[in-house]
Amino acid sequence: MILSTHAVVGGAIASLFPSDPILAAVAGFASHFAIDAIPHWDYPLRSISVGKGADNRRLRLNRDVVIDLFCVGVDACAGLALAIWLFATPASALVVSLGSIAAIMPDPLQFMHSIHQREPLMSLQRFHEWIHSDRKVGWRLGVSSQITFAALVSAVAQAFN
Ligand SMILES: [Zn+2]
Repeated sequence: MILSTHAVVGGAIASLFPSDPILAAVAGFASHFAIDAIPHWDYPLRSISVGKGADNRRLRLNRDVVIDLFCVGVDACAGLALAIWLFATPASALVVSLGSIAAIMPDPLQFMHSIHQREPLMSLQRFHEWIHSDRKVGWRLGVSSQITFAALVSAVAQAFN
């Protein structure tokens, strides 16, 4: 799933444990894998390779890499901002942010693995690839389904808050 969806779901889950940052972070991190198992759409990147067999060791900073980093950065920041806006109170803002960032983390860790193939990144990568749905959906359904899914998770979390 795209990072915004992960961030919103992680923030939603964290908002259920506003006084337990460790549980919020662990649950947010775990949520990444749970929702990656759902068939979904991911936006294409120009030069950074992701997923099975990704190898970025030869990646050099160029225009395409900067555009990729910009997209990923906007995606992550928008998700984090949305999660804070939807779920945080002044008292829970830190924990919600933590859950949200923890939910994004497995993807930067995939990138780390693609340039640095060592444990524990290798085991994590194997698990990530194993759980990640192989079924891709078209972008129209992909975008609308992720918005609907994030809204649904938000509504459920709000109901429990
Ligand atoms: Zn992922």
